[in-house]
Amino acid sequence: MNRLVFIFLILMPFFVGAQKIRVGVFYGKEIKSLTIRSINGNCQVHTAKGFLTDLNEGSIITLNINSAKKIHISLDGKFLGVSDSLFLHQLEFADYLSFLSPDSRFKKRKYQGDFNISQSKGALVIINEILIDDYLEGVLASEAGTRLETEYYKVQAIISRTYALNNSNKHINEGFNLCDGVHCQAYLGRYEGESNAILNGIDSTKGKILLDSNNNRFPVFFSANCGGQSSETDQIWSANIAAYLSRVDTFCIHTRQANWEKYIPKKDVVSFLKEKYFVDVNSPMIAHEIINFKQDNRKTFFIHPYYGIPLRDIRKHFGLKSTYFDTEQVGDKILFKGKGFGHGVGLCQEGAMNMIKKNFSYEQVLKYYFSGTKISDYRIDTIYK
Ligand SMILES: [Zn+2]
Ligand SMILES: [Zn+2]
Repeated sequence: MNRLVFIFLILMPFFVGAQKIRVGVFYGKEIKSLTIRSINGNCQVHTAKGFLTDLNEGSIITLNINSAKKIHISLDGKFLGVSDSLFLHQLEFADYLSFLSPDSRFKKRKYQGDFNISQSKGALVIINEILIDDYLEGVLASEAGTRLETEYYKVQAIISRTYALNNSNKHINEGFNLCDGVHCQAYLGRYEGESNAILNGIDSTKGKILLDSNNNRFPVFFSANCGGQSSETDQIWSANIAAYLSRVDTFCIHTRQANWEKYIPKKDVVSFLKEKYFVDVNSPMIAHEIINFKQDNRKTFFIHPYYGIPLRDIRKHFGLKSTYFDTEQVGDKILFKGKGFGHGVGLCQEGAMNMIKKNFSYEQVLKYYFSGTKISDYRIDTIYK
């Protein structure tokens, strides 16, 4: 082996751990006012003009957008100045900042890492620059809770790490890699308390990602519960990803989110179909289908493919948990009886949790949901830029 390559491989875990990711936090929340308290360690605040102040442990910096769309900055109640942007630099990786919302736009959150804060259209743009594994701690807690076993967090760490690498350009036009919502991966900052299972899950899979048989990163997706059968990608989005074929999942059908019901006034459903898809709702055949729709296997369209009504549109419009539902009439309402929660593509979190409970390993879980893939370390070209 070439000596340089050998040295690189030895140093790999260090490089991987030291990679940073830029996450747009409080994304879409239109924050105009924010207080940030240093609760662990000290932090430095800079503006475009240079150093502004230290933010020592216990101190609070308050940011407000003023009428001139500048950020008004004060420290412990004392006015410091106005600026278009500011940069908060944490002196230690383990330091935390606590973010509070004076106008109750969000619940208190704790974050590690550095922050770039600017304004756009009268709202704060808040970008958290953080080590990828510290980011994953927040993602695992937000996406899976803090009470699971280490083995499950190994699964989630590998897919969330792969997902982060695959989607690094998703918000690049907005100046960051990923947002903190389910549009990318939920990331509500650092969770309260410590979960050794989360930390162990991340540390023991450090740098590991999912590759396809050609050694390319696998396009991972996951959702809460597939309802017993996974979706194909073109049922949910417009694109078709060949690696995803619908599969039966027997591990999730008796879990918490396996079944759901929702009643919707029949007139609302009928008028939606009529106005949006010009369906002849007075036709006896169609009227019958609307209230007798069945999916023994996952379908792509409501009623019949001929009418071109994607189930994903019905789900979105009526706020349903999944597209995997049947219908029946109850009085003047339509009862939607559904299975699963989420888009249903890829790994099913509740199924995976159940597999872990049944003593399957994280490797077996990943193989079950992503057939044809392998777990591998980062390669040089996958390193986050
Ligand atoms: Zn996003
Ligand atoms: Zn499932």
